[in-house]
Amino acid sequence: MWICIKCNKKITSAEIIKCPSCGYRLFRKERPPFVKNVQAV
Ligand SMILES: [Zn+2]
Repeated sequence: MWICIKCNKKITSAEIIKCPSCGYRLFRKERPPFVKNVQAV
């Protein structure tokens, strides 16, 4: 899953050519939700 850096819309790899929402073409990789390992303080 990718996220448009302009409008933060989630983009699938099939839509990666162009953001369907704003037409922007720069995306960042969405981090998997399970990576965070926050220790309780
Ligand atoms: Zn966008």
